[in-house]
Amino acid sequence: MRRMKIERLLQSQGFGTRRECRAMLRAGLVEIDGQTVDDPFAEVDAQGLNFVVDGEHWQYRERACLMLHKPLGYECSRDSRHHRSVFELLPPQLAGRGVQPVGRLDVDTTGLLLLSDDGTFIHAWSSGKRRIPKRYEVVTRHPVDDAMVATLLDGVLLRDERAPLRAAACERRSECALEMVVTEGKYHQVRRMVAAAGNRVEALHRSAIGGLELPADLPVGEWRWLGDADLQQLQ
Ligand code: URA
Repeated sequence: MRRMKIERLLQSQGFGTRRECRAMLRAGLVEIDGQTVDDPFAEVDAQGLNFVVDGEHWQYRERACLMLHKPLGYECSRDSRHHRSVFELLPPQLAGRGVQPVGRLDVDTTGLLLLSDDGTFIHAWSSGKRRIPKRYEVVTRHPVDDAMVATLLDGVLLRDERAPLRAAACERRSECALEMVVTEGKYHQVRRMVAAAGNRVEALHRSAIGGLELPADLPVGEWRWLGDADLQQLQ
């Protein structure tokens, strides 16, 4: 049981300040079990509660952990000036409750992006120290040869880095494509490593983080909550 006042519950889920949530309740915009709840002080059991706000269905979540299939041309920052922001692809309530990207992808990288409002989760999955494998599909400008793959596996020294960075795995996929796993999460890491190995990235897509694959049925630009099974895959 997690009892709380409905206005407090709405606030915790990102629907605005307590005052704004109270106004939404008073305006009759909130329903639970098909009944309008217009008393802001009504106590509810938050655990797993399903509720409707202005016609949209929600479930109470103590923390928000989700994945997004990031499209090309979107920045991970909230107030991006030159490009669209990934936050435009999410309901405003998620930004309202402080959801942030867990690590970042470049504006011209596509694929799996995790977001959360849980500081412990964000730290655990973005910290370089845990060496979480992140898998990328890379399209290169010039053909990939064995020497290039060997260089990426042996390690390349990038500017401003003290030690060489190695691909944890690297395989040629076709003439100008490779699949590469890195564990550090440094700035522009894959692009810089590929450049240091004498080639150039033309397209970059993240297909997995830890054991969590970008689901084939998650369309570009769409998001979904991480379920228990997804969270286990991340381990
Ligand atoms: N490496 C890059 O160079 N860019 C990304 O977006 C992710 C990894």
